[in-house]
Amino acid sequence: MSERKLIDRKGRIAKKLRISVTDRCNFACLFCMPEKDKISWIEQEEILTFEEIGRVARILAGLGIEKIRVTGGEPLLRPGLESLVGDLCRIEGVRSVDMTTNGWFLEQKAESLRRAGLRGVTVSLHSLRSDRFKQISGVDALPRVLKGIDRALDVGLRPVKVNSVAIRGFNSDELLELVEYARERRMAIRFIEFMPLDGLGIWSGDRVVSGKEIIERVSARYPTFSKGRGSAETSSLWEFEDGKGEIGLITPMSDPFCDDCDRLRLTADGKLLSCLFDTEYHDIRSLVRGGASDAEVADLILKAVWKKPDGVGYMPWVKDGWAKPRNMNAIGG
Ligand code: SAM
Ligand code: SF4
Repeated sequence: MSERKLIDRKGRIAKKLRISVTDRCNFACLFCMPEKDKISWIEQEEILTFEEIGRVARILAGLGIEKIRVTGGEPLLRPGLESLVGDLCRIEGVRSVDMTTNGWFLEQKAESLRRAGLRGVTVSLHSLRSDRFKQISGVDALPRVLKGIDRALDVGLRPVKVNSVAIRGFNSDELLELVEYARERRMAIRFIEFMPLDGLGIWSGDRVVSGKEIIERVSARYPTFSKGRGSAETSSLWEFEDGKGEIGLITPMSDPFCDDCDRLRLTADGKLLSCLFDTEYHDIRSLVRGGASDAEVADLILKAVWKKPDGVGYMPWVKDGWAKPRNMNAIGG
């Protein structure tokens, strides 16, 4: 590994990379996608090939990235994703490759992904009621997603986690059912505070269910104790006193975790984003396609990382409505 590190002005060192392999999705979650007629998909030729993604990931691993998460849009819409997963797993210095998915293709793909080297999978599950699942995601997919989760557990992907975005007025009355679902399977569940990165513009502070409210409500039924938030982790963890697993709270809105953030994001069209809430995208693809050497690509990456913003906790305007450059489906979460 090179002596150079992915360090920013605040001294934070990046170790994790989230790679969005597509902005496209077969769901249309109302906290993520814009209305159908307002979507402008990234053109196919602008999307990085697996070879290009592999090269950028290798350069980043050479600079200190150790963990990779593949995301989207819906990552499993990319045909043959197993081959990319395999390539990423083989990169020197990469200790784990995980995926975040809506679960639609998981029943079919879990085994081949596991064989390719995927470690764990986080499945987004925002409701256990079929009608509501459809209302939130736009697709009548609950039974299929649940089968996908079961399959992921069966084939030995670990960890299998559930991600739920808690939104007041949509699923905020269902937190306990979601917790019970995860507890029964000894799976970790993460509740994410609703972020103003949605395409429909429905975000408002009133819709955010804070981590504090969630843990108070859950603990009243299933007592928990705090395990705190590990260094550079997004979730603060709470373990159930009866030993039936844990719950994680991802609280970018009420209690941001930016001061030790160690994540970078690569968008499907090859832009490096040093913070979810950054408005400056660093164009890696142009260099990669323009014949730049690995050292030249690394130089751009290091300069981009140096400029990483302090984080959402230092951007009060985000909560007051801001001109976000992209919606969540195009960033990757
Ligand atoms: N399609 C995959 C999925 O849904 O898991 C991966 C991409 S999705 C953009 C990544 C994560 O971001 C998901 O867990 C999703 O629930 C979450 N997400 C999307 N929009 C969000 C928002 N506005 N606020 C908080 N989380 C959001
Ligand atoms: Fe698709 Fe995931 Fe966004 Fe839902 S959250 S629309 S599944 S990318």
